[in-house]
Amino acid sequence: MVQGNRMIFLLFFLTPGPPQKAVSGQTLTQMTSQTNSVFRVFLTAVAVLFFHSGVIQFQNGLGDACAFSVGQEREVGEKLLTSVRKKFDLLDDLDITRYINGIGAEILGAAGSQYFDYKFFVVNDRDFNAFAAPSGLVFMNSGLIEMMDSENELFSVLAHECAHVSNRHIAGRIEKSTKVQIGAMALVLAGVALGAGELSEALITGSMATAASMSLKFSRIDEEEADRQAFEWMEKTERDPAAMYKMLQTMRRIARINRNKIPTYLLTHPEPEVRMGYVQDLLLLRGGHSYKNVDEFEFLRMKYRVLALSRDHSILRPRLLKKIKKKDGIMAEFGLSQLYLAQGDYLKAMESLQKVIFAYPGRPILMADRGVIHLQAGRYEKALESLGSAIRADPECVYASYYLARTYHQSGDLIRARDYYKDLLVRFPAYSRLYYNMSEIEAVSGQQPAAHYYLGMYNWLEGDRRLAKFHLKEAVKNLNLGNRIRSKADNMLDKIREIEKR
Ligand SMILES: [Zn+2]
Repeated sequence: MVQGNRMIFLLFFLTPGPPQKAVSGQTLTQMTSQTNSVFRVFLTAVAVLFFHSGVIQFQNGLGDACAFSVGQEREVGEKLLTSVRKKFDLLDDLDITRYINGIGAEILGAAGSQYFDYKFFVVNDRDFNAFAAPSGLVFMNSGLIEMMDSENELFSVLAHECAHVSNRHIAGRIEKSTKVQIGAMALVLAGVALGAGELSEALITGSMATAASMSLKFSRIDEEEADRQAFEWMEKTERDPAAMYKMLQTMRRIARINRNKIPTYLLTHPEPEVRMGYVQDLLLLRGGHSYKNVDEFEFLRMKYRVLALSRDHSILRPRLLKKIKKKDGIMAEFGLSQLYLAQGDYLKAMESLQKVIFAYPGRPILMADRGVIHLQAGRYEKALESLGSAIRADPECVYASYYLARTYHQSGDLIRARDYYKDLLVRFPAYSRLYYNMSEIEAVSGQQPAAHYYLGMYNWLEGDRRLAKFHLKEAVKNLNLGNRIRSKADNMLDKIREIEKR
């Protein structure tokens, strides 16, 4: 059954969890001490309860089938996502995910009706890789973003991955062998292509021989089809497809440099030289297209945020200082500001950011960046001022809204914080940190059942089904839980049981 162009770009972000690491790499130590201690008591009580509850066995397998249907691919995708959330360090940032899903939405706008609800993720991993997993889960590593110079290059790589999904190339490879469980096979294939051998082992219950019998590579025909389709979508969105050629050149260069360790991307998407050949032909044949001028501000801001969140600062800092003297210099200055922010040097972070604001006046997102620095420095009044002005200039700026909520939360105005978090939850029901933040507020306000519900949802989104079930059960067994949350918790428990049965 073909769905309409139903693209639910849920936001998924994972790192090992807010208590240790918060957005932008800061710790949560600035939480009011009262909030902190009450919440810690709650968590301790929860931990004690948890270790007395049973352990749920991981199950697998979709049953025997001889063709990989759209329905099966969806099921595999759902199951894979829960494992991926646990295994991978997805870059946990509202802002980065909003950007990459925005580019994804543009690609799918050109692609038309799709079978799946695509979701795009940035993985904190230096390996040069991008991969489309079953059912429209598209992953891109920070190491790949680091090698890109423009938004069109990013667009070309994502479009290529979407074309593999759209043309059901993954299903095509799986259908070629029918004797093993198809679901398990799809998971192994995805696990290996994502560069996670352990993930595959955890996912497969049967023989590991399955993995060896599969071809990881997309065939030449699949590659060419994906490239031609991506090329067409670039023209349709008035984006210059020359960026696709440039990206392939980068891939070839990287393949040559890393002769002893082939990047994972080139295991699944072989032979950049061959691809360069027909992409060049397509470029020569294109007629009279005019392309839009892409303002690289958003791309470069995202790229440098990714770098500041993922790269070793002692390596990144000299690189940024060198770049500041060259082209995109001013956005490298932005990277420097993010780096100082992560290091807790708020004075230098603000100095660098002011230079960027001077170069790009009137960008509301930079007001939000200023607010975040004030918040981390504990200057709540100034944070409210900057974040408020960002939201007034751009009411859709979710980054500013989230940090506004955080500012109210950290300064002890829990009522306002709750209102903002709840509003964001309606808009971003899959942003895990919001549930964590809400659980803190409910716990401190004495609403333990609701706190359990939010922790259950948080753990579900972080890929920990065991803890998710535990908290959701704790929530529903309490008679004081409100009806609205109760039915959500019941539905979630049903969904988890459903997935575990497969
Ligand atoms: Zn490919």
